[in-house]
Amino acid sequence: MDVAIVGAGIAGPTLAYWLWRYGHQPTLIEKAPRLRTGGYVVDFWGGGYAVAERMGLTAELHGAGYVVHDVRLVDRYERKVGGFSADLFRRNVDGRFVTVPRGDLAAMIYRSIGHHVETLFGESVSAIAQEDSGVRVTLEHGQSRLFDLVIGAGGIHSPVRGLVFGPESRFETDLGYRVAAFEADGYQPRDELVYLAYSAPGQMVARFAMRGEKTLFLFVFRADNMSGPDPQDLSEIKTTLRQVFGRAGWECPEILRKLDGASEVYFDRVSQIVMDNWSKGRVALIGDAAAAVSLLAGEGTGLAMVQAYVLAGELSRAGADHREAFRRYERQLRPIVEARQRSARAFASMFAPKTSLGLWTRNQASKLLNIPHVADWVIRREFRDDIALPEYVA
Ligand SMILES: Cc1cc2nc3c(=O)[nH]c(=O)nc-3n(C[C@H](O)[C@H](O)[C@H](O)COP(=O)(O)OP(=O)(O)OC[C@H]3O[C@@H](n4cnc5c(N)ncnc54)[C@H](O)[C@@H]3O)c2cc1C
Repeated sequence: MDVAIVGAGIAGPTLAYWLWRYGHQPTLIEKAPRLRTGGYVVDFWGGGYAVAERMGLTAELHGAGYVVHDVRLVDRYERKVGGFSADLFRRNVDGRFVTVPRGDLAAMIYRSIGHHVETLFGESVSAIAQEDSGVRVTLEHGQSRLFDLVIGAGGIHSPVRGLVFGPESRFETDLGYRVAAFEADGYQPRDELVYLAYSAPGQMVARFAMRGEKTLFLFVFRADNMSGPDPQDLSEIKTTLRQVFGRAGWECPEILRKLDGASEVYFDRVSQIVMDNWSKGRVALIGDAAAAVSLLAGEGTGLAMVQAYVLAGELSRAGADHREAFRRYERQLRPIVEARQRSARAFASMFAPKTSLGLWTRNQASKLLNIPHVADWVIRREFRDDIALPEYVA
C-alpha cells in the first residue's frame, strides 16, 4: 500500500520503518525544512523501549543516552529540598530504562529508515478527500497525490486531525501549563548525571548536562503566569520566558542569558488530546495527534512508538482490510493510553505547584520515593507499563 504519513517526529518515522519492513510504501510529509531535533531529555522505558529493541536501536540508544543517578529538587540557594534516586526506577523496569535527548531519539529513528522511505520536507497537506479507491491529498505546495491510506502523525497540532476529524479545540484539554526547552553550550555548573530542578510557586526550571559541554534546559510554568497570549515565534517565546522567569531567582538570570543566544526553542501548551475515534475511513491518527498524554505523563514518546508498531503490524496482518486493522489497533491501545492520561492529570500539579505550601508538600512527597517499598508501589502503579507487544510477521 502507498501510505502518506503526515509528520516526521517520533511516531511518523517509527511507522514508516515498520511499514517499509512489511513491504509497504510509506511517504513522510514534514512541515519543517529538516528533521526537528529539539526538545528536552525524555525517559524511555516500557513498551517504547521494547519497540526500539525490535528496531535494533538499543545499543545506539544507550550510546546516546544517560544513566541519571539522582532527581534533585533545589531551592533558590541551591540547597537540596527534595528528590530521589533514579536507581529505583531502573530497578523496577529491570534496567530497561534510559534517559535520552528527544532530538537524538528522533534522529536515530529517522536514520533507521535510511533511503528506503521518501520524505517531503518543507511540505504539508492543505486538503484530504476520501475517494472509493484511495485518499487524495493536496500538498501545500500545490501538487495532489493519491494514497491508499493517510496517517496523521503531526503531534498535538496535527493538520490531518484538523482536516478530517474537526478543529483542535474539540479534542484538546489544556492542562494549564506551558513548556519550553532549549540547548546551550558551556553552561556552568553542570552536576553530571543529575536531573536538577528548581521550583518557585507556579514555575519550574530544570537543567541537564550533556556530553560535549552542552546543557539542556526545561521550563514548565502555569499559563496564568503569562501576561499575554501564547507566543507565536522565537522572539515572542524568548520575551515570554524572560517575563515569567526574569525574577524567579536561582540561576534564572544566567539561564535567560543563554536563552538569548538560542536559535531554536521548543514551546508548546501542555495538553492532552482525547478523541472518540482514532480513525475515519482511510485515515487514522497515531502518537500525540490521536491521544497526547502530555509531557507530564513522561511516556508520550514510548507510547507513540508503540502505536506506530501496532498500527503497522495490524495493517500487515489485515491485508487489504484497513478498517479491521484500524479497529484492532485502537482496541489494543486505547485502554493503556487512557490510563496514562488519567495518571498525568493527577500528577499535573506536582510539576509546578501553585503555592509555597504546595511546593513544600511536593518536595516532602518526593523524599518518600527514597523508601524502597513506597517507590516500588508508586512506580508499579503509576509508571510501569507491561505492554506485551504483539508479534507480527514481516
Ligand atoms: C521539536 C520538538 C521538541 C519536543 N520536546 C519535547 C520535550 O522536551 N519533552 C516531551 O515530553 N515532549 C517533547 N516533544 C513532544 C514529543 O516528541 C511527543 O509528545 C511524543 O514524542 C509523540 O510524538 P509524535 O511523533 O506524535 O509528535 P511530535 O514528536 O511532536 O512530532 C510531530 C511532527 O509533526 C510535524 N508537523 C506538525 N505540523 C505539521 C504539518 N502541518 N504538516 C506536516 N508536519 C507537521 C512536526 O514538525 C513534528 O516533526 C517535542 C516535540 C517536538 C516536535
